[in-house]
Amino acid sequence: MKSINPFTNKIIENYKEHTGSEAKHIIKEVDVAFQSWKKTTFEERKNYLLELVNQLTEQKESLSNLIMYEMGKVKKEAVSEIEKCAWVCRFYAENGAQFLDSEVIESDASESFVSFQPLGTVLAVMPWNFPFWQVFRFLAPALMAGNTGVLKHASNVQGCSLAIEKLVRDAGLPENVFRSLLIRGSAVKQVLENPKIKAVTLTGSTPAGKSVAAIAGSVLKKSVLELGGSDPYLILEDADIEEAAKLCASARLLNAGQSCIGAKRFIVVESVYDQFREAFVKEMQTAKYGNPEDADTKIGPMARHDLRDELHGQVSASVAKGANIICGGFIPNDDDSFYPPTVLENVEPGMPAYEEELFGPVASLFKVKTEEEGIKIANDTVFGLGAGVFTADLERGKKIAEKGLEAGCVFVNDFVKSDPRLPFGGIKESGYGRELSLLGIREFVNIKTISIK
Ligand code: NAP
Repeated sequence: MKSINPFTNKIIENYKEHTGSEAKHIIKEVDVAFQSWKKTTFEERKNYLLELVNQLTEQKESLSNLIMYEMGKVKKEAVSEIEKCAWVCRFYAENGAQFLDSEVIESDASESFVSFQPLGTVLAVMPWNFPFWQVFRFLAPALMAGNTGVLKHASNVQGCSLAIEKLVRDAGLPENVFRSLLIRGSAVKQVLENPKIKAVTLTGSTPAGKSVAAIAGSVLKKSVLELGGSDPYLILEDADIEEAAKLCASARLLNAGQSCIGAKRFIVVESVYDQFREAFVKEMQTAKYGNPEDADTKIGPMARHDLRDELHGQVSASVAKGANIICGGFIPNDDDSFYPPTVLENVEPGMPAYEEELFGPVASLFKVKTEEEGIKIANDTVFGLGAGVFTADLERGKKIAEKGLEAGCVFVNDFVKSDPRLPFGGIKESGYGRELSLLGIREFVNIKTISIK
């Protein structure tokens, strides 16, 4: 497996894949580690997680550089990613024991309660777009709950995968509570079928999720799926349009548009459409592309050339079916994998920009007559990850968020963000299960009923 810097197009490192028997041996070691780890107290696990916070903080510079070189994220976003990993470790260190405290339930027994016990070794299949954050939001609650983990990271970020494994060692956690498997997607089946693996969490595309869920189903193992999205943002006539345009452009351009909860479709009521369009396009056009190391760079390259080409193919196919390009929509040069901020209009059902996830800095604008029509278009998708609504009337916004938009999380007057305190996940083809918060730590536990006569 190769890591290639998408800005310079140079190979950073080659990694030798683990063979089937090497992977099996690692899983065995992690299972042995589980037998002791599950007996540690919450206080001990808390201290280990706080040591992980220290390591993340101390190694922030080198870890953020690794992210930047391996997948092209701009430096300041890479630094924030590492800081967020420290936040989630601290959050579960401080709250994990309370989240997993037994719950007494009155019944006919003299005593009955629910106890939350670890399941064992969980397989995490992860994507490259937030190569640390996606792993840590699984890892922190998994470890706090007494589980152990193995990671199959995306093939292009094996450096990050090994760095996380090292970080856990540097923090002094017991040997083998967390290990990296250097394997490809095709090897996941064999790993998941291993009886020592008790559950799987996958963050990635919907096709990968369907494939892994089918394997998990065939061996009856619990799965959590965090998949793709085509998040709609509804901009109503009473919104602060300038502010909405700024937030919407930031939401579209974060991580060069490669975010599952990136705003992808902007549905604007016709009375404010032109005003929004002008302000939004200006934000998109003036976003500075450049070297991810430079402080004034707003967007870096996409993570791989093939991803840029795939995105351009989706844009071109939409244009061939009648969509208009307002800005962007071309490949500037072949040396790096940059794709310019792109805005499309006249996007209709049947076009990739309408039906599929566009995983890069491409926005689609829709003009609607009414709020009802806007909600209808927003929900006319197989995805249901995040959504946004912009309005000055907070009661109206709340009602649309709660009852109108079909998504796992809806933000009013802001863009969708993940936050350790709030549950995160989707509905429809965006997946099932939740990460983060109390709900996230309870996904991979045995919810055990104890009844005493
Ligand atoms: P991807 O191609 O689905 O890959 C994700 C992970 O799954 C990688 O480790 C990949 O391994 C593995 N994989 C792919 N196909 C597989 C299969 N058939 N069986 C087993 N494993 C398989 O996705 P990506 O391009 O890395 O990431 C972008 C996608 O992730 C987008 O759709 C985005 O929306 C989604 N995402 C969702 C969330 C969320 O929380 N909902 C967060 C971030 C990203 P290889 O690299 O070896 O192929």
